[in-house]
Amino acid sequence: MSMKPAVLVTGSSTGIGAVYADRFARRGHDLVLVARNSARLGALAERLRSETGVYVDVVPADLTDPQDLARIEQRLREDARIGVLVNNAGTAIQGGFLRQHGEDLSKLIALNVTAVTRLANAVALRLAEAGEGAIINLASVVGLAPEMSATVYGATKAFVLFLSQGLSIELAPKGVYVQAVLPAATRTEIWEHIGVDVDTLPGVMEVSKLVDAALVGFDRREPVTIPPLPDASQWSAFDAARQMMLPNFAQTEPAERYQPAA
Ligand code: NAP
Repeated sequence: MSMKPAVLVTGSSTGIGAVYADRFARRGHDLVLVARNSARLGALAERLRSETGVYVDVVPADLTDPQDLARIEQRLREDARIGVLVNNAGTAIQGGFLRQHGEDLSKLIALNVTAVTRLANAVALRLAEAGEGAIINLASVVGLAPEMSATVYGATKAFVLFLSQGLSIELAPKGVYVQAVLPAATRTEIWEHIGVDVDTLPGVMEVSKLVDAALVGFDRREPVTIPPLPDASQWSAFDAARQMMLPNFAQTEPAERYQPAA
């Protein structure tokens, strides 16, 4: 076994998660691969074992299933070899809000919000006690853009960004690094799942470029990494504008513009 921490990657059977698994294996980290499709996980594990020599554990799980989720939480709580969580598993659903319904919305939120939060929570205490480790959360630029017509998906990703920023504030002083990664359109199967031909989209990034760039941000210990954004000062200005409001929220009186007419 390597001396580097093991990395648990959710949603590693394909897409962004599979490339994260590949890259961490090539960096010499043992892996725990989590997703539903055990055949795909097994094939990836086999390839990475033979190409890199790292130890790869395959743990099939549906993270929207409470028992499966509890099993992965327990693994994160108890397995002291795991020092990095890549909270990547996520999905999207078709249509606008008026065409989306109960069960689909619940599953979307269960995977993109509940599982991400609970898995981060399961590993955080152990990492904080160890004074080291990392949590990578896959958010999305859609979480910054209600204009993109993916309202609930975007809301889940806004949650992931906020969660990551808050966790970074709480955990960084304890030695735990938290990174939010915000891809824009990236060539993976997620587009097929929502009935979109990815080749009709402008500016689609290849998944290997996306993950390699996100890992540059990881190595720099950036709290928020937006691989496709050319000018980092735009994010800094956006975040600075938000922070400028903060001292102004504590007021005993409503703002002048909300004073009821006499
Ligand atoms: P993808 O190609 O559809 O892969 C999603 C992964 O999650 C698969 O490994 C899938 O494996 C797993 N998964 C799905 N449902 C699951 C469940 N219920 N339990 C456990 N695992 C589950 O998607 P991707 O594009 O790589 O997306 C990865 C992350 O990046 C997501 O959080 C996504 O929102 C985010 N993202 C993607 C894009 C993009 O354009 N691709 C842009 C911004 C953000 P199984 O089917 O085997 O379970």
